[in-house]
Order: sequence, then structure tokens, then C-alpha cells
Amino acid sequence: MSTLHTSSLSENKVQSKTVFILGSVLSGLGKGIVTCSIGAALQARGLKVHIIKIDPYLNLDAGTMNPTEHGETFVTNDGGELDVDFGHYERFLEIEVSKEQNITTGQIYFEVISRERRGDFLGQTVQIVPHIIDEILRRIEEQRKKFTPDVMLVEVGGTIGDIESQPYLEAIRQLKRKENGHLTSIVLLTYVPFPEHLKEHKTKPAQHSVRELQAAGMSPNIIICRSSIPLSSKALEKISNFGNVAENAVLDLPDLPNVFQVPRALERQGLGNLLEDQLRIHSRVTPPNWTKFVNLTQEIKSLKEKVKIGIPGKYTSLSDSYISVTEALKHAGWNQGVDVELHLLPTERFEEDEASLSLLDKVDGILIPGGFGTRGIEGKIKAIEYARKNKIPFLGICLGFQLSVVEYARNVLGIQDAYSTEINPNAKFPIIDLLPEQRSVSEKGGTMRLGSYEVTLRPNTKIYEIYKKLKIQERHRHRYEVNPELLYVFDEKSLQFTGTWNELMETLEIVDHPYFIATQFHPEFKSNPWRPSPPYFSFVEAALKRKNQKYLDRFD
Ligand code: GLN
Repeated sequence: MSTLHTSSLSENKVQSKTVFILGSVLSGLGKGIVTCSIGAALQARGLKVHIIKIDPYLNLDAGTMNPTEHGETFVTNDGGELDVDFGHYERFLEIEVSKEQNITTGQIYFEVISRERRGDFLGQTVQIVPHIIDEILRRIEEQRKKFTPDVMLVEVGGTIGDIESQPYLEAIRQLKRKENGHLTSIVLLTYVPFPEHLKEHKTKPAQHSVRELQAAGMSPNIIICRSSIPLSSKALEKISNFGNVAENAVLDLPDLPNVFQVPRALERQGLGNLLEDQLRIHSRVTPPNWTKFVNLTQEIKSLKEKVKIGIPGKYTSLSDSYISVTEALKHAGWNQGVDVELHLLPTERFEEDEASLSLLDKVDGILIPGGFGTRGIEGKIKAIEYARKNKIPFLGICLGFQLSVVEYARNVLGIQDAYSTEINPNAKFPIIDLLPEQRSVSEKGGTMRLGSYEVTLRPNTKIYEIYKKLKIQERHRHRYEVNPELLYVFDEKSLQFTGTWNELMETLEIVDHPYFIATQFHPEFKSNPWRPSPPYFSFVEAALKRKNQKYLDRFD
């Protein structure tokens, strides 16, 4: 190890503890939710938690990844384009994360190679050990020093068998070796299959994953077993025995109806107390305060009504692609006793077959989410027209905002050539066009208008009624805007632009419609179950009203 890191560790007087959360067997087991659950158990004890997520891929951030493969890109206030797990952290723990909390292999190599070019390692051979490992440890240490949490959680993406994970395992091993036994804890999430034809849990994959970790020089302190149905005590015992951890440190996590039940499911098996013992930390609250999760799960269990929201979108195959949107809808519903049923609708069908638009009559509200590229665009415009004409509650987000402008220009103002230059760069009436600062930008990574900006709302408008504030802060991620030079075509009679940031149009509404709101920003990124996003809340409220009205109309 370089002197740099050795000295920073020995100087470290802050007794922050660290929990590493590692995954094995397969990805997609919900490591992010487990990390949040550990965070929730510590917060319930009045302890200060800070989270870092390591993504072992080479991308510098998640901004250029395909949402169907990796899930949506979560945008932070400081303009980070991060992995879906950061959305879970903010939603579960009501914290604000920063892009600094994400470490990717790309960032680590970029830093080390830049330093090599600068001459920081003159005379040395620059290698994975020690240079890459030292940079990983330096980044973790930097966060610990800056935030001085009681406990720092470090979630490592992927699984421990991946080639990409090896440097991180080595970094964790070195860190654990330098510190005494009560400063770090390793939580291993594993999978215990229940093959239908055998009708019993098979623990071999879990046993192998412990061995894999042992081969990297470490043992787990806690093993969490994901399974479709609860494990038998025999299976738990076996994992404890072969995994070489105490029986009470093997926890069971079967599929649950709602992810917000996970923190308490683990707490009931002693997760918080185990961490207190292992890390020698003391709760500041006795007994731990779980009120917010207890109330939330009660609320979810006692939902009485249902509304159907249709999302005509491009990525209809994976709900993770729109997770902040779908979560924001659910939060909005829960806070008014309503279960939101989501219908992801393939927009391309609306293009091929007009009659399929009648599918939109079966839902109580229509939401067009953000998006990129040209596929399915005309179908989305058709869905917007349908919502506008049939007075179906409508919420348009980012691309949904831009297409609402195109739809109105074409079908109400009669400007057939109205389009976005993202879709047709030679559009004759480019009502949606590149932001001026984007014209000279050629690189794609991290170059959009990103993060939080203050939006000024116009009084006496629906959007002002919704937020009840003149100035709001919301998050952005886009390259295109309503073209200010062509704004003169809007007469303000029906469609009004009601929120702005400098010259930029940020919100619109249609006045002679029960609920037609669209925003250039993404309000979903700031929603959590205890503080639903205002436009989502009132959109669901409007959808519920329509549903009840439709029901009453049947008796007319
Ligand atoms: N593609 C559009 C833009 O870049 C909208 C982006 C989005 O919906 N997030 O402006």
C-alpha cells in the first residue's frame, strides 16, 4: 500500500463504523433494498448513516446506460446521473444523496491514469495493487471524513464472483485487516432456490458463495438469504453451519408484497441488534423508533380504492426503467388511501392501429414519462391528443411536456410541421429545439441540463395551487426546450405556460381541462412515501375523481 493511504488510516481517530453489503449467486436480489433496510434500522436507533455505492462497471456514471438493462437513471440535486439504488436510498431514508457517493471502476481508473499522466507516480509501475486499491480506499475514506457518520454503508454492486468485483474485495479485505474487529461488518446477501420439483430449499449456492468470499480472505458477519418462500429452520441451520456464522446471524428474506416491508421483516429477526453487537454501537433511542415504517405498512395494507394509470412508454418490458415515476405514483396514492394500478402501454401500437387508442379509456389517468430518441413518438402524441380531447387527467414529464407542446401546436394551432429537432433535425417548425448551451456540445456523458434548478410559478394557476409556493426546486435532465423564438404562436387561451426558469418554459397547463399538467422537470425524483410529490399527488387525486364520476354517470 502507498504511504498515502497507510497514514490516512492510522490518523483516523473518527470511530465511524462501516458495513459492507455484498451480493452473491445472482444479481437482482434487492441488495439496494437490503442496504436501505440496514440504514433504516440504524436511523430507527437515532444513528447517523451515510451510504456509498460502488458500481464495478467502467462507465463514469449511469447516464449513458440503457434503462432496459440497468433500470432508470436516477438524478440527484447536484446533477449526478446514478444507478437506481440511489433512488431507493433517498426514498427509504429521506436523505439527499450526492454524486460523490457513487464510485465506479471508470472513475477509479480515470483518476489513477490522470495522476500517472501528471507525473504523480514517476518511476513507478502503476498497478491494480497498490494503486487502484489505494484509490478505492482513498475515496471511501474521503467520504467517511467528510460526513463523519456513526455508520457508513458501502454497497458493492454486482456479485462477489464477478471479475470486476475483485479489486473491491481486496480493498475491503485490506481495510478490515487494518482495523480492529468491531469497526467493520460484512453483510452477504445470497440466494436460496426452492426448485418446484424438489419442494425444498437448496443451500449449496449459498454455501459456495461463502467459500468464494473466504477465498478473497474474508468471512461474512451476517448472511441474508433471499428466497421465494420462507426458509425452513433446517435450511437456516445448514447455512449457519457451512457459512461459519452464528445461527442468529442468518436472516431470511422471502418475497414480500411490498419493499417497504423489508426493513421491519429483517428487524424482527434481529438485524439491528446484531449490528449493535458486532459494531459495538449503542442505540440513541430505546426502543428503536419504527413509527414511520409501521404507519406506512399499515397505510398500504388498508388501501380501499384503486385507480388505473396508463403509461404509454417505450420501455414497457421492465418496470425498473420508470421506477421513480411508478414509485411517485404509488406514494401519491398511498397518501390518499388509493392503490395505484399501473398499466404500461406500448406506444408503437397506437401508431399502427388507431383503434387501440381506446385502451386509454380503460384507465383513469395518463402519464407520459421522460424519454429519448424517436421510437414510439407519434404514438405518444396520439395518446396526448386523446387525453386532451377526452378530458382524461394527464401528466407529462420532460419528453411528455415537450410532446404536449408539439401536440397542441399541431392539433389546436394547426401548425402541422411543428416538431422537436430531437426527432427531426430538419423540422420546419422546430417548436422544441436544443438548449442554446447544448449546440456546441458533442460529448454525451454528463452534458445535459442536469440537477436542481429553481422554477418560478405564476400565481392563480393550477400548478401554483398544487405546490402552494411561487418558487420551487426540482430536478432536470434534458437537452431540448420550448423554442423561445416560436413562443409567439401560443395565445394563452387554453394552453398556458405557468412556470419558468429565466427564459425557459418549465410547466404548462390546459385551463379548460380537469387536469392537464406537464413539467420540463422530473418531480418524481423528490417523492417519497412520507412526502409525495405535489403534481403526482394531485394527478392521482384527479384520476380518482374521474373514476368516481364515471361510476356515478352510469346511474344517470
Ligand atoms: N429527450 C428530451 C431532451 O433531452 C427529454 C429528456 C427526458 O425526458 N428526460 O430534452
